[in-house]
Amino acid sequence: MEKATRRQSKDHNSRLVLKTIYGNGQVSRADLARSTGLTRPTVSAIVAGLLESALVSEIGPGPSAGGKRPTLLAINDDGRHLIAVDLSGDEFRAARLNLSGGITTRVGLPAAGLRGDAALDAVYRLVEPLLTPTATPLLGFGVATPGLVDPQQGIVRRAVNLGWVDLPLRERLEERFGRPVHVANDSHMAALAEYTYGDPPPSANLIAIRIGRGIGAGVILGGRPFYGDGFGAGEIGHVVVDPAGDLCTCGNRGCLETTSSVRAILKNAAAADRTGSVLAGDSVPTWPAFIQAVKAHDPVAVDVAVAAGRHLGAAVAHLVGAYNIHHIVLAGRVSDLGGLLLDAVNAEMHQRVLPAMAEATTVRFTSLADGRLADIVTLGCSALLLHRELGVV
Ligand SMILES: [Zn+2]
Repeated sequence: MEKATRRQSKDHNSRLVLKTIYGNGQVSRADLARSTGLTRPTVSAIVAGLLESALVSEIGPGPSAGGKRPTLLAINDDGRHLIAVDLSGDEFRAARLNLSGGITTRVGLPAAGLRGDAALDAVYRLVEPLLTPTATPLLGFGVATPGLVDPQQGIVRRAVNLGWVDLPLRERLEERFGRPVHVANDSHMAALAEYTYGDPPPSANLIAIRIGRGIGAGVILGGRPFYGDGFGAGEIGHVVVDPAGDLCTCGNRGCLETTSSVRAILKNAAAADRTGSVLAGDSVPTWPAFIQAVKAHDPVAVDVAVAAGRHLGAAVAHLVGAYNIHHIVLAGRVSDLGGLLLDAVNAEMHQRVLPAMAEATTVRFTSLADGRLADIVTLGCSALLLHRELGVV
């Protein structure tokens, strides 16, 4: 018992030291003792272990505080690599990253229509090219899927598009690849990415809404993802916003996904009277054509985009009312719509919540730069893995 307690406190101290190095960039052993409250000999012993395991490296002498110049320590970015897997789109994606979230290799696999075992086989095939022997050890896998996911047990409770019900995805992947696997919902991971790698909000709370093929929100409370009692926190895509609206894949009518997803926007554009519009014609417009029409102030395209934004704003109002979180971030392909969408979302949200609450709320697009947008889920998976395996973020 005593031995177990000693080991736990050693683990705890080691994580604390590693987290401090990760958070500070470059620190000396004396800095570490000061900021962790641990004794110098304890810090030295822990650092020796971290150097040996190649998680940390000595990067040279720092400025002197009067005496001998101290040796600075930093995270060894390439001391481990990790694999992040994003199963949220028509293309499954995976990436190899280093410890600071830098992506070194990307792979993708067309997966539209794949369900059940076929979808699982595609995950195996997707990951295999990333398993070539490397100089650095593999820390593990972070995997994001749409649907209801139990992140503690690594079980996909229900992912409608992938045809998975109670699939023990973590167990399957750990059996196959022999490394730790962590599984979570895609929108929850997008929120974690914004919190970890984006512009830090002044508070530890944030909501990120991903709008692409589907719509889902991730809620960060007190710096950690809030999953909900049934792992569906933020599952706003299938909340009805227009009871007389279109039939949804879930069986209901007028879910947010039928008014504001990319597919719904294009469908609504096709159904509108397009006489005189640059979108006139028989076929459903493509997303780039639609964006171009919006940018050219085409009235049909603008009306459809504003209507999508208004419905989204109604959903945002409910989130503001329920959580009173001041920072709401939008991500995904609808960010192509720019200020027009933000204005519509804000206008509707302001109409639907207490003025003081609306005024204190900022709705903006993700701060993860364009080039990294497609990687927002991947980055979230990396953050989850770093938190669970090393305790550093
Ligand atoms: Zn639905």
